[in-house]
Amino acid sequence: MITRYVIDVTKLKYKVNFNPSVYNFRTKKYESKEATYPSYEQARANQWKCEKCQKLFSTLKELRGHKIEYHSY
Ligand SMILES: [Zn+2]
Repeated sequence: MITRYVIDVTKLKYKVNFNPSVYNFRTKKYESKEATYPSYEQARANQWKCEKCQKLFSTLKELRGHKIEYHSY
């Protein structure tokens, strides 16, 4: 049951970190809250953010792996 608790807490954290980009028709670029990207691929590659070191990841799997590797305690 301890495992279950940990998963629920991390899910909440990941939700906060998710930073999807929206296409802006005026600028013809993908914009997120923090940055602008010229292509969808670049926007996608930066949609998950580690709140501890500000590093960006394209998938939740990568972010999760990063957190386990660098911020596990
Ligand atoms: Zn980090």
